[in-house]
Amino acid sequence: MGYDEIMKLFLERGFLMPSCEIYSDALAGFWDYGPHGNTVKNRYVDLWRRELVRRDGMNEIDGSQVMSKKVFVASGHLESFVDPIVRCEKCGATHRADRLLQEATGKLVPERLPVEQLDQMILETGLKCPSCKGPLGKARRFNLMFRLGVGAADDDSYLRPETCQSIFVDFPRLFKVMRLKLPIGIAQFGKSFRNEIAPRQGVMRLREFYQAEIEVFFNPEKANNLDKYEELRDQTINLDLDGTLLQGVKCSEAFESKHVPNKLVAYYLALLHQFYDKAGLDMKRSRFRRLGGQEKAFYAEEAFDFEVETSLGWVELVACNYRTGYDLAAHAKVSGQDISVLDGDKKVVPHVFELSMGIDRSIYCIMEHAYAQEPERSVVKLRPDLAPITVGILPLVNKDGIPEFSKKIYNPLKTRYDVFYDESGSVGRRYRRLDEIGCPACITVDYQTLQDQTVTLRDRDSMKQIRIKSDQIETTLDKILRGEDLFKQ
Ligand SMILES: [Zn+2]
Repeated sequence: MGYDEIMKLFLERGFLMPSCEIYSDALAGFWDYGPHGNTVKNRYVDLWRRELVRRDGMNEIDGSQVMSKKVFVASGHLESFVDPIVRCEKCGATHRADRLLQEATGKLVPERLPVEQLDQMILETGLKCPSCKGPLGKARRFNLMFRLGVGAADDDSYLRPETCQSIFVDFPRLFKVMRLKLPIGIAQFGKSFRNEIAPRQGVMRLREFYQAEIEVFFNPEKANNLDKYEELRDQTINLDLDGTLLQGVKCSEAFESKHVPNKLVAYYLALLHQFYDKAGLDMKRSRFRRLGGQEKAFYAEEAFDFEVETSLGWVELVACNYRTGYDLAAHAKVSGQDISVLDGDKKVVPHVFELSMGIDRSIYCIMEHAYAQEPERSVVKLRPDLAPITVGILPLVNKDGIPEFSKKIYNPLKTRYDVFYDESGSVGRRYRRLDEIGCPACITVDYQTLQDQTVTLRDRDSMKQIRIKSDQIETTLDKILRGEDLFKQ
């Protein structure tokens, strides 16, 4: 299914809407989550907490979004978090130089290419402004951070361009007060901000977006002594190494063939694969793509992008960066604080492996993979515990005591589940409206209910129906949320 269908669903069914949309000066790259989108996001983050953070025994923090200037002097963002841009000399429009060249040549143009080289390529390809065909000026670097002035003194500070900097800055205190031991993951979910030049494609490139980041701190001398590696050694992943796709590579093979730098990296790639499998992505259309020199972020020694195939092509969902001791050493230097910690009886500056996940994109891709156009209906086959509505309560008719009985079922369920009461239109139409937003179960109250207190339970995926006792509804919903299939033959 295509991007347009999914965005139509998002806009028309209360998942997402452009921010400030009634105003003519609304800015691109900012979106609001509606009720259904908000619930799916919260449920997705819960899944991330259960299957990555808690499963791996990580600690989760929630840092502030405004951070002081020195943080970004140390992290390198002030200097290096830049995009190459060119301005049209005729109409004044600003464009990403690397993207224009990429579209014109069909070749990968790394964003970190020196500006002189970009100017040369623009000259050679005869590239013009895509808006007005005017001549392009010289390429220059534009910093992607939003600068803020804090307080009356207008102190320089920035909206964080990634959540992880608070993890690095808080690490020394956390290590001490939480009595942590290496290796240890510290996780954070929250907003990040990037002043993108030309945000495009709806939710795929945003200026304000949600990230869930995990920073795993470890002793670099012990990157291959990881007991839990054994748990996942047979988990398979897909690896794209310089354009060669290796499908179904075992975690242990990835390490032994030196496709990944160490056991710790192999383990976390496998864990991430398992997570997205559970979240409902079609994993046959996923890969970890090893990044070449000029594609990597400036802080990464080795990097793999977790990507999935969609109607928009391959989309990066998670940047998996081996950041080495870069961040902690830089913060130690600029702050003047000792950031080393004890591992056994030895002082070390830990290395960091990072799983930096885009939440908004992940939700888009899960929805697209789960969306199916069937002859009679469109249906989103989300896993039940990600669905915005868990159960619909539908009275068959609006008379003869049926609405009253339906309300008796609905009222106590409201505080325990995301439940939707719908009495408008034919039952078939009501089923289809709930199918389209991924609701896994519908309960219909009919004349038989008044006789024997049974209701019809209808399954979203198979459209099969069974009758259950009305006092069994809660236990049944709990089974559905756990992923049990109650409709198997
Ligand atoms: Zn122009």
